[in-house]
Amino acid sequence: MHFSRLRLSGFKSFVDATEFHIEPGLTGVVGPNGCGKSNLLEALRWVMGANSAKAMRGEGMDDVIFAGSGGRPSRNHAEVMLTVDNADGTAPARFAAEPVLEVVRRIDRGAGSTYRINGVEVRARDVQLLFADASTGANSPALVRQGQISELISAKPQNRRRILEEAAGVSGLYGRRHEAQIRVRGAEVNLVRLDDLSRQLESGLGRLRRDARTAARYKKLSAQIRALHGAVLHARWSEAVAGLAAARGEANQRHVAAEVAARAAAAAATEAVEAQAALPPLRDEETAAAAVAHHLEIDKDRLDRALEAARAEVARLTDDRRRIGDDLHREGQAATDAADQLRRLAADLVQVERDVAAAPERTPALETAARDAEQSRAAADAALEAAAARVAAGQAEARAAQARLVEAQGRLSR
Ligand code: ATP
Repeated sequence: MHFSRLRLSGFKSFVDATEFHIEPGLTGVVGPNGCGKSNLLEALRWVMGANSAKAMRGEGMDDVIFAGSGGRPSRNHAEVMLTVDNADGTAPARFAAEPVLEVVRRIDRGAGSTYRINGVEVRARDVQLLFADASTGANSPALVRQGQISELISAKPQNRRRILEEAAGVSGLYGRRHEAQIRVRGAEVNLVRLDDLSRQLESGLGRLRRDARTAARYKKLSAQIRALHGAVLHARWSEAVAGLAAARGEANQRHVAAEVAARAAAAAATEAVEAQAALPPLRDEETAAAAVAHHLEIDKDRLDRALEAARAEVARLTDDRRRIGDDLHREGQAATDAADQLRRLAADLVQVERDVAAAPERTPALETAARDAEQSRAAADAALEAAAARVAAGQAEARAAQARLVEAQGRLSR
């Protein structure tokens, strides 16, 4: 079993796929500082299952992925493939028949590593064991890094023992023993758990037996219940059939009634449409009647006011008539008085004329008295005429008032 080829892609400074051939004999890598010589050795360790980021000179394992440079963007994955020639069939039993082994490790940023051997996905442990059985591996002292010789010279005895064990080809067995011990411990834990489980199962068994008896009883009762249920269902079915016939009869009646109702509804709808059509003229009439009512209301107010005025007029004219009556009476009295006075004055005049004839010496005085009497008579005539004129005026006024009163009463009654 010997390494024949190392293929790197996206690993550290090897951004492009690069193949490194390891020919029989001595193979050397020569180059200036920083050209990537150590990266090749790290790729070899990494593909063999190295799991220490520090050993890869990084903070985390993702640091092995090409991180980008001035002219190229970073990558999101890196892959290293180691081709192992197994023509002599010295690989561990599982792979002994394979003439060539292609061990691939791939890492995706943030997702961790996956391993494949000849295209089959395997665990990291399988890869580590493959190389440990061949006395090599990521941590093998056979891979000597810078400064490691001086570290070995000053190493502790246990570390030197590792070198001797690897030289003897038993370091893989140690790994396997460790795995076997872990498995044995796991099996012991499983046995304890199985004991617990069997105890639980035994206690569960009694419970299950009781449950089985209950279940048998349940089954028997269920059968009885099912039979009874069937009888009940049959009775219900018979009832339902009778109900269905009755319901059908009723449905037919309802159907007929529904048809009658539908016809009535259609007639009512027609009437409604007609009534709807008759509505606008009635509404117009209502509007006109409302307008007339409004006018009548206004007229009523006006007539109410006229009635009030007529009533006031009647009261005033009644007062006037009474007053005119009083005036007439008074003026009549005055006319009577004036006529009496006239008669008296006429008698006085006759007496005076007699006296004048009987006593001529007193003629001047009597003439004066006669003149005075004549003046008084004239004044009395004038007063009489004035009284008669006033009576006539009062009577005219009374007639006019009477006429107005009659008109006002007519208006009032209207
Ligand atoms: P020396 O002779 O000094 O030991 P060397 O030839 O062994 O140097 P390495 O140390 O293998 O060189 O490589 C270092 C180079 O690899 C540096 O240029 C560094 O920038 C580059 N490098 C390391 N990790 C990455 C990475 N993740 N992405 C890109 N380049 C990287």
